[in-house]
Amino acid sequence: MFENSNEGMHLVITGAPGTGKGTQAGVLKRKYGICHLSAGEMLREEIRKGTPVGKKLEPLLAGGNFAPDELIIEMVSNRIEEDDCKKGFILDGFPRTLNQAEVLDKMLEGKGIKLNAVLEILVPDKVIVERILGRYTCVTCGESYSDKFHKPAVEGVCDICGGKKFSKRLDDTKETIERRLEKYRNFTYPTIEYYRKKGVLISVDGNGAVDVVAARINELLKR
Ligand SMILES: [Zn+2]
Repeated sequence: MFENSNEGMHLVITGAPGTGKGTQAGVLKRKYGICHLSAGEMLREEIRKGTPVGKKLEPLLAGGNFAPDELIIEMVSNRIEEDDCKKGFILDGFPRTLNQAEVLDKMLEGKGIKLNAVLEILVPDKVIVERILGRYTCVTCGESYSDKFHKPAVEGVCDICGGKKFSKRLDDTKETIERRLEKYRNFTYPTIEYYRKKGVLISVDGNGAVDVVAARINELLKR
């Protein structure tokens, strides 16, 4: 009876780059035992595995194009049928456009699933630029750090692996970040309006430490 029913937690998390939505999705995944489906990671996985979808995607993405909506929706549709998504899912980085939001709704409807909530994480642009510019990762294990919010316990030494080499993403400059924010506003903002009208939108103040923001989300989801 629970097959294809609306049991479980079905969420979308959205927000500009640098709002910490991936981190909060991870918190929700652990709290509810649901799967965290990051669009970017799913796409990279398909390409890495060389699946039929991956083979179609690779030249498109390499040429700087977006993945076609039908391919992403097919990927998501297959993925949420897997065992780790039995208790629900949290979609991160998808839907990015109004068309994707509508196609997603139709696909979920077909499975008898309704979204419980769409979480919008709000952080002022100025803070986002600061956050992204302050990010760096351990070259050895990939752990991410931040000048302001998450420094290693010992300066210059990775907490996880003891590595001493760190790198920054070269394409993170103030200009490229501002361009990404602009793109987010142009393409993704219509989805926010769409979900607001449907009455599932929950906007969260994302300015603050990870656990503070997580507590805010928790409080809002209870309502
Ligand atoms: Zn490390």
